[in-house]
Amino acid sequence: MLQISQLKLKLEQSEKELYKLAAKTLKIKEEEIKKLIITKKSVDARKEEVCYVYQIEVMVDDEEKKAARLKNVNVTIAKRNAYQFKPTGDENLEKRPIIAGFGPAGLFCGLLLARHGYRPIIIERGEAVEKRVVSVEEFWKNGKLNTRSNVQFGEGGAGTFSDGKLNTMIKDQFGRNHFVLQVLAEHGAPEEILYLNKPHIGTDKLREVVKAIRQEIISLGGEVRFQTCLTDILMKEGRVTGIELEHKEVLECSVLVLALGHSARDTFKLLHEKGMNLTPKSFAIGLRMEHPQELISRNQYGSRYDKLPPADYKLTHNAVNGRGIYSFCMCPGGFVVNASSEEGHTAVNGMSNHGRNEKNANSALIVTVTPEDYFKETGMNNYPLAGVEFQRIWEAKAYERGKGAVPVQLYGDFKNNRVSNGFGAITPNLKGSYSLSNLRECLPDYVSAALIDGIENFERKIKGFSREEMILSGVETRTSSPIRMERDDGYEANIAGIYPCGEGAGYAGGITSAAVDGIKVFEAIASKYKYPIFTE
Ligand code: FAD
Repeated sequence: MLQISQLKLKLEQSEKELYKLAAKTLKIKEEEIKKLIITKKSVDARKEEVCYVYQIEVMVDDEEKKAARLKNVNVTIAKRNAYQFKPTGDENLEKRPIIAGFGPAGLFCGLLLARHGYRPIIIERGEAVEKRVVSVEEFWKNGKLNTRSNVQFGEGGAGTFSDGKLNTMIKDQFGRNHFVLQVLAEHGAPEEILYLNKPHIGTDKLREVVKAIRQEIISLGGEVRFQTCLTDILMKEGRVTGIELEHKEVLECSVLVLALGHSARDTFKLLHEKGMNLTPKSFAIGLRMEHPQELISRNQYGSRYDKLPPADYKLTHNAVNGRGIYSFCMCPGGFVVNASSEEGHTAVNGMSNHGRNEKNANSALIVTVTPEDYFKETGMNNYPLAGVEFQRIWEAKAYERGKGAVPVQLYGDFKNNRVSNGFGAITPNLKGSYSLSNLRECLPDYVSAALIDGIENFERKIKGFSREEMILSGVETRTSSPIRMERDDGYEANIAGIYPCGEGAGYAGGITSAAVDGIKVFEAIASKYKYPIFTE
């Protein structure tokens, strides 16, 4: 195939026009194009004439000759970098591998183990997505939290109730990133995720996709057990020999993948007690901010904003107090959600449907905190789980100030350190109940100061960003894992046979990177153990 880049279409032009543009670029007739696929699509809003920019691949006769004759830097022979992996392990695996956690990391590790005949057993503390949706909706309606099945826990992991953004900062020369998108598309995600430069699925579609992946794993001989929590790890001479489930059942194993996510606080404690090497790491905390989506889109695209998908933004600033502040997990046209998982503690996050057609844009605005910060705040010097205790402090304050509901405040009142007494032109679009409060009391002062400095600075980039009536809610504490589970070059922890994986282990941040880490852990297992023949 020939790759052609930098083809531009006006907003009102049909994508069929790409045939005409490709033929013109290649100096051939349209009929000579046997196949055309879009491989990248982005919006160019830098000038008043906003347009879409495409990269495509076309199949024509004599491709190499044509490319050489044209001498056009935008026309090249397409390079395919399809993900491939061949298991080479030669050790016997006596028992089926177990994966704890069925978020993106566990899902992809499990799918690949299943596709290669390893028949994994996957355990997940939360519910299957059908039931989980009911538990989460109930929590948002009547405040009754199911601590085992919620926005953080259950099939699909923390990403199921999300915007489903799939862009990632990680580069992978082996094609794993694209492979993740392909698998999601094969299981019902929109095909456009394969070429959009900022692909997203939306919570509505993601719920169906995770279910379809589960069905493939089961059809290949894998097993998925929901409402089943790992409660203990059995060990002999420094290696895992099995796990305990729900404090009663024991499953033997010699390979255990821990894809627990960043909120498995009870399990982190268990791992610490078992002697696993856990290192405290920096993460970030802050608030979620809502703006009218129209304000964001107008700023980003100009007068033609209504002809384009809802715009996003990415903002960073170094505050005068030396703290870095940045926008995170921005959800165009979405909801703020009560994403709590512990009784008496409140944490928020954001999600959108595929259409991103809600009235408000929301994004976390967060400030980095280091182990030094949270050792000092908690008084737990060098305790690997001090970050968890630090998160709990602010989540408990948010719960208390909001009287169990999500505390919200107008930005103007946040600046002036007072409880809001009503809303202006914008009202919250929030899943769960909310209560007007003073969020300054739910964060360390240095975080509040950095947030105000950052929001004032972001006004220079997005006009209206710092208007006093904009809405803040809190607290945003589950941004990444507060620990890293150390692993060696073979991806094993200091307890042999245990494979830390995904975001909770500190090796990913987001859906795609967690899925990629799941794939890498599968590769590590399949490079050590051969295709097993289980008798049971
Ligand atoms: P998780 O997805 O957290 O999965 C871990 C699973 O392990 C959970 O289901 C949990 O129940 C289970 N588990 C924990 N302990 C045990 C145990 N002891 N026994 C059995 N099971 C256990 N990222 C993006 O890239 N794009 C987004 O748009 C986006 N939006 C988000 C919106 C929300 C509301 C949230 C909460 C997160 C969002 N994220 C987003 C982050 C993303 O969801 C995570 O980065 C990703 O899910 C991490 O994957 P993981 O598999 O490592 O862990």
